[in-house]
Amino acid sequence: MRRSAAATAMALALSLAAADIAGAADAPTAGNGSYVDVEYFPEPTGEGARTSVPTGSPHAQQARPTASDSRQRGSATGSEDGEVVPLAETGPTADRLDVTIVGDGYTAAEQDDFLEDARTKWDEVTDIDPYKSYEGLFNVWAVKAVSEDSGVTGDPSREVVRNTALGSYFWCGDTERLICVDLDRTKTYADKAPATDLVIVVSNSAKYGGAGYSGLAADYGYDGVSTLSSDNDRSTLIAAHEMAHSIGLLADEYQYAGYGDYPHPEPVYPNASTLTADRMAAERTKWAAWLGEPDPSGGVVGTFEGADYYEYGVYRPTENSIMRSLNTDQFNLPGREAMIAGFYRSANALTPLRNTAVKATRFTRLSVELADLGPDTGLSRPQLRWYVDGREARQARGRTSVLPAALGVPSDRRTHKVTATVVDTTTAVRSGAVRDLTSNSATWTVSR
Ligand SMILES: [Zn+2]
Repeated sequence: MRRSAAATAMALALSLAAADIAGAADAPTAGNGSYVDVEYFPEPTGEGARTSVPTGSPHAQQARPTASDSRQRGSATGSEDGEVVPLAETGPTADRLDVTIVGDGYTAAEQDDFLEDARTKWDEVTDIDPYKSYEGLFNVWAVKAVSEDSGVTGDPSREVVRNTALGSYFWCGDTERLICVDLDRTKTYADKAPATDLVIVVSNSAKYGGAGYSGLAADYGYDGVSTLSSDNDRSTLIAAHEMAHSIGLLADEYQYAGYGDYPHPEPVYPNASTLTADRMAAERTKWAAWLGEPDPSGGVVGTFEGADYYEYGVYRPTENSIMRSLNTDQFNLPGREAMIAGFYRSANALTPLRNTAVKATRFTRLSVELADLGPDTGLSRPQLRWYVDGREARQARGRTSVLPAALGVPSDRRTHKVTATVVDTTTAVRSGAVRDLTSNSATWTVSR
């Protein structure tokens, strides 16, 4: 009995040491053996939960030689590992939210399946508003990761172990539907994309599951990683929910039984507040502008007790929403406005096509490109206007190319400023501060 326990302890010590050595080769950014918070959804149509999980994975395969290494060694294998395929390139990375999708559990022969799954998942996410109405503010990059095995660990049953590029696995933290991933291996692949603001890991599986890591920016350079299974519709909602934490800075709108009173001061989240409707309206803060409005998630916007994990003394805007439960794909009105604010924090709908640092003359053509936001759902309404020295040239409204002389820049000895400004006039925004965020400008100096 004692010997057996000692042997077990020894085996454990050895496996931990082995894990350390294996991890050391990957130059981890957050340190091996460290833990991070993750959110998951135990039931496909239910509320979320949070737990702490390791940043590494016991199932990640060793880094493969890169394509150039292979060439140097005279290898004939043309591995696609690490290859980047643009799924949507809508504008310069500086003016876009860049989503990088990495596949796991796809063998060399299954890389086309991965691309198809990545496209399908992104199409499903962008079927949900407000992603749908602002799809054109995203670039989407697929990064191929070649796995030894097809499928991922824990599918279909707990004992199944697979050797995969990112080591994604069900049954993380003893929870069947929680898919964890090796964050350092994920970063190795995500970093191959031209730019990454958010990562989605598509794990090759039909079994419902996924997770969301957020607040990673300091260690990984991007804020969030969402995991989800490739061939399960409900798992798409996990990514739509998780990306909303990173993009809209939204709180979870669910609470845990037994958590009791809210222990914090007024939270910074746009969709959680310690204020009741009367006080919110009186102070004209948080979602006061939406109180009483019929909401896309059903019901009317108000203050519903229970949010940000606590039961009492903290309120959410609506009875239900995608930030509360995955039984709906609807954001509530305050959540939607916060998402639109987030889109424009990272993206610009207007890109100048002529260098604004170079002086122009009255007959220099000034052009801008406007993001093609997506299908016209009536939600996004960007409006382009031109100004000469701060005064609007109304005749040019909506035009993407102008001559300063035609705008009314006079032929005198002075220099003048010509400005193109786009502002989103969507009715989904009621806050002046958010409206300002949706506005992007380009200004040129013009002289005779
Ligand atoms: Zn959440």
